[in-house]
Amino acid sequence: MALIKMTTPLVEMDGDEMTRVLWQMIKDKLILPYVDLKTEYYDLGLKKRDETDDAITVESAKATLKYGVAVKCATITPNAQRVEEYNLKQMWKSPNGTIRAILDGTVFRAPVLVKGITPCVRNWKKPITIARHAYGDVYKNTEFAVPGAGKAEICFTDENGNETRQTILEFKDAGIIQGQHNTDASITSFAHSCFQYALSVKQDLWFSTKDTISKVYDHRFKDIFADLYENQYKEAFEKAGITYFYTLIDDAVARVIRSEGGFIWALKNYDGDVMSDMVATAFGSLAMMTSVLVSPNGQFEYEAAHGTVTRHYYRHLKGEETSTNSVATIFAWTGALRKRGELDNLPDLCDFADKLEKATLDTIESGEMTKDLALLYEGQAKVLNSEQFLDAIAGRMQ
Ligand code: NAP
Ligand code: MG
Repeated sequence: MALIKMTTPLVEMDGDEMTRVLWQMIKDKLILPYVDLKTEYYDLGLKKRDETDDAITVESAKATLKYGVAVKCATITPNAQRVEEYNLKQMWKSPNGTIRAILDGTVFRAPVLVKGITPCVRNWKKPITIARHAYGDVYKNTEFAVPGAGKAEICFTDENGNETRQTILEFKDAGIIQGQHNTDASITSFAHSCFQYALSVKQDLWFSTKDTISKVYDHRFKDIFADLYENQYKEAFEKAGITYFYTLIDDAVARVIRSEGGFIWALKNYDGDVMSDMVATAFGSLAMMTSVLVSPNGQFEYEAAHGTVTRHYYRHLKGEETSTNSVATIFAWTGALRKRGELDNLPDLCDFADKLEKATLDTIESGEMTKDLALLYEGQAKVLNSEQFLDAIAGRMQ
């Protein structure tokens, strides 16, 4: 059989530990037999990041700006213990943080649904994708404890020294205060990423904040989204047959629970943090959650939402058997290959991505899966080890 051709390389970002082991197996067993794979390879494994003083991470992000589509393996974000374990020159920053800062993107997380694993919310039939604004608010706050009676004020001094001042509270006794911010530029990028992504997957976009209470702060988010939609995206949305819908967060929560899924839910930083954990848990497992970083200019970086599965890797190193779920990593590859196919007008590549996803889901739905899923599965599950699971999918592909 002739291999499927590619025209533009994918930016391939290799990673660490168990996911690095799966990465190679996925390529060897599921992709290379069918695709004449073209990638520009960047090794973001911790050893290489240390050797290159993390320049490799920056280069891989720049390559993503150039080519438009990347696929990333999970990577270690070093802590003190990792500095010792890998004898690092320094505690390098999170690669995802570095890449996100360069692409200026928003992360979209969506569950992979299979028959036999029912979401806790029974009417959810399609995935709900969460888009979390990953800048500012309470994550970059200034806060302190007020020791006793006194006046708390909020003050802004402009470049010419003019002050705008408002009283927060005349404290009668001890308490706490907090200052938060966001920027129009960051909110605008977030909104662009959300509109771009909704168009790319042809799903409705919901956005919710608490604008009735926060009449300036949250209202600014609402206005920026509304303005961009009216002036830049409305026509494209109508053409794609999708809608943009703003509602108060309380109302959104109620609607999400009653919905059947199948839309993107954009949220401010804190709301997105909390709601993404709730939605992910209700759908089943972190190993079945995909993640894509979308830049405001329409660059895409696909990955799994979970980490490098360290505990399994240490067992693997001891020669013990592992049963690590590769679904999210497979879907990172198929997401990236499909996007490359769409951008380069290669229907065979898109078709291959669809087939590989179907073979993966069919394998699980026929009862063959890794241990983590067997615990959630409603039927009779046959538990496979990491490699057997990939072999079972490869068998279906043939
Ligand atoms: P993790 O790798 O997500 O694993 C946590 C636990 O979740 C595992 O021990 C395992 O539970 C279960 N699990 C996660 N993915 C699984 C899979 N595919 N199949 C089966 N079980 C799975 O999180 P972590 O142990 O907190 O972090 C490990 C490393 O990953 C850290 O160095 C961290 O910096 C990094 N990390 C990277 C990313 C990223 O690159 N995007 C994200 C998060 C964390 P059991 O052991 O009970 O089976
Ligand atoms: Mg969280």
